[in-house]
Amino acid sequence: MSSRLSESGGASGGKRISRRQALGIGAGVAGAVVVGAAAGGYLAFLTPSGDLKNYAEYLVDDQRELHSGEVRVTFLGTTTLLVDDGTTQLLFDAFITDVSLTRALFGTLATDRAKVDTVLSRVGADRVENIFISHSHYDHVLDAAYVARRTGATLHGSPSTLNVGRGGGVPESRLRGYDPGAPIRIGDFTVTVLRSKHSPGTVGGDGTPITHPLTQPAKARDYLEGGSYDFLVEHGADSLLVKASAGYLHGALDDVHADAMFCGTAGAFGKDAEFRRAFYEETIAKVQPKLFVPMHWNDFFMPVTDHLTTNFKAIDDVAAGWDFLIRKLNGSHAEFAPMEGYSSIVLFGPTGRAA
Ligand SMILES: [Zn+2]
Repeated sequence: MSSRLSESGGASGGKRISRRQALGIGAGVAGAVVVGAAAGGYLAFLTPSGDLKNYAEYLVDDQRELHSGEVRVTFLGTTTLLVDDGTTQLLFDAFITDVSLTRALFGTLATDRAKVDTVLSRVGADRVENIFISHSHYDHVLDAAYVARRTGATLHGSPSTLNVGRGGGVPESRLRGYDPGAPIRIGDFTVTVLRSKHSPGTVGGDGTPITHPLTQPAKARDYLEGGSYDFLVEHGADSLLVKASAGYLHGALDDVHADAMFCGTAGAFGKDAEFRRAFYEETIAKVQPKLFVPMHWNDFFMPVTDHLTTNFKAIDDVAAGWDFLIRKLNGSHAEFAPMEGYSSIVLFGPTGRAA
């Protein structure tokens, strides 16, 4: 744990605290504290605002070697996931570059290649041959073209995502449009793209497409949603569902089951109890996962670290959503497993979760 302690006190941690103080959060609660690890790889922490300490017992980080049949999922913050069975790697969403709120509002966005290289190296992403993008808002697609170029991967996406790829110089031969419902075999994985819907109440979440190749630097508002998609990822008899945005199409998941579910819980899910109940019934209750990992809860205007925080304005919404999920998942004996930045979870096989 000493490395985590020193990292939380490093340059980026200090910068984070001072920015939060500037935002009016009291110095008395601004110190990031990492408490010693309990058994089983669980971490306990207090965030600068103290908001997530109640969830310390749920946090998961499992960096051990994979057994045959197991799948590692590494969380790169927001909704970016690296899925790896030891042979084949899949990347879901590609948002790694740091984009501050000021830059998102007033500046232009471009991939920070050095940052992306560093992060891909840190998480061992050296076999990525396929990238799937949930929708074309910048906090999902910003680095997709660079990652595809650097790794030689095929970029799968909506017409909007393919325009992001084109604008970023990905060759046409490595751009593949979605054919929802048609399974794609990749190594021992089968990925099925499912039509979905963006979380309500989000600016530009109405499906408006990007109609021309989008080159960087670009404005945040140039990254139009262009439709939203979920991904059913099967590995032998096991499966996980990746659902980046907390929206749903009525009936779309009626026949979809997955052992594990990685799901965005931003937007209306935290704010609106009525939406939360409807979302649960249309998604989690149908998928019936044994394990649920929330995504899109960290403050994505801040650099991803292994000690994530929520946006201070979203603390109450995140807590409301998580408390609801914990109650519901407890009722179905499913595990709630939030993850820190760059942490991993091992699924399936002889000793993984959700087996
Ligand atoms: Zn979005």
